[in-house]
Amino acid sequence: MIKRVVIVPDGVGDWPVKELANKTPLEVASKPNLDDLSKHSILGTLKTCPDGMYPGSDVCGLSLMGYDPKIGYTGRAPLEAANMGIVLAPGELAFRCNLVSEEKGVLTDYSADHISTEEAQALISELEKRLGSNLISFHTGKMYRHIMCYKRAGDLDVQTDQPHDFQGAPYEPHWPKGKGAEVLVGLTQKSRKLLAEHPINLKRAKEGKKPANMIWLWGGGQAPKLENFEKKYGLRGGVISAVDLLNGLGRYVGWEIINVPGATGYFDTDYAAKGRYAVEALKRLDLVFVHIEATDEAGHTGNVQEKVRAIENIDRHIVGPIVEHLKKERAWRLFVAPDHYTPIVKRTHVAEPVPFIFAGSDLPFCCSERPYTEADAKATGIALDRGYELMLRLVKGWKHYG
Ligand SMILES: [Zn+2]
Repeated sequence: MIKRVVIVPDGVGDWPVKELANKTPLEVASKPNLDDLSKHSILGTLKTCPDGMYPGSDVCGLSLMGYDPKIGYTGRAPLEAANMGIVLAPGELAFRCNLVSEEKGVLTDYSADHISTEEAQALISELEKRLGSNLISFHTGKMYRHIMCYKRAGDLDVQTDQPHDFQGAPYEPHWPKGKGAEVLVGLTQKSRKLLAEHPINLKRAKEGKKPANMIWLWGGGQAPKLENFEKKYGLRGGVISAVDLLNGLGRYVGWEIINVPGATGYFDTDYAAKGRYAVEALKRLDLVFVHIEATDEAGHTGNVQEKVRAIENIDRHIVGPIVEHLKKERAWRLFVAPDHYTPIVKRTHVAEPVPFIFAGSDLPFCCSERPYTEADAKATGIALDRGYELMLRLVKGWKHYG
């Protein structure tokens, strides 16, 4: 059996940065394993985000998993709900329900000062008690990230804005719009009244913390329509990620969710543990999908040094051990590709074809002779327009596809 691996350094794609003498983090980082792999493999670019869609880790991640987001994607909240163990009934919608801070009509914090899960639990329970019904239910997730479910999808056809995009600005221009939007606006306004005087918020005020005095509902959708991966591709897969969205996608396609102690989704994540668990998982699964969030976080915070360091850690602790293990197998294939760009200068996602490496024991042609950088990937002229195509090639072999 051919062993297959996908390595996803989230948001690693970048643009030239001043502090790096107009080079990108990929160009500056010391990454001997990635560069060696790249030089002896196929290098190119992959369009992970279909036109007209937002380049989130869910949409782009779905492409990397071998699914067309235009068909399967229904919103991010259903994926997070899945990862919280919420099974949506047919026709039921899930919305992300942030606990936020507001002051005089301005959204002052999309995360309510990164409220603790324990405090959030009390507030969400209060909302469920007072606003819950046979139509509406509230579910506690982690910290500021919760879920509201609404049973009659036919009532609502709304566009919503993500609160981290308008922090510091008045929120009324960002109210949900479209059919049934008043339902969501009404719940939000009621939440403000209910939460303002809650003992948890009075206590937070005393401690000098921002109150969690409103909810913000967004990213709604029904359960995604995704065929089981093993049925579709005949392979048993597993995912390693600290991010709810990707684990949620993994659950929907029937992958094993491999929990790695010490995987945080941040700069302090235990890279070596991820590498070890991936190698272990390969012994029992046909395919392992390893996702690392730290590179994306560095992009969002505009931290050049952390982005370079994250790339170096991924190279040493994840790419290195996995490739070493694969080379002991008779037949193997691997691709490395981020889901999207998170340029340091933009501090947010950009929909631009991403650089990929496609390696394996049965490459039809070889080799790029180039290191793994954005410019080198473009220079090869190999450009795949359908994001899910790379997984198809991973499954069937580069030359057997298309
Ligand atoms: Zn991101």
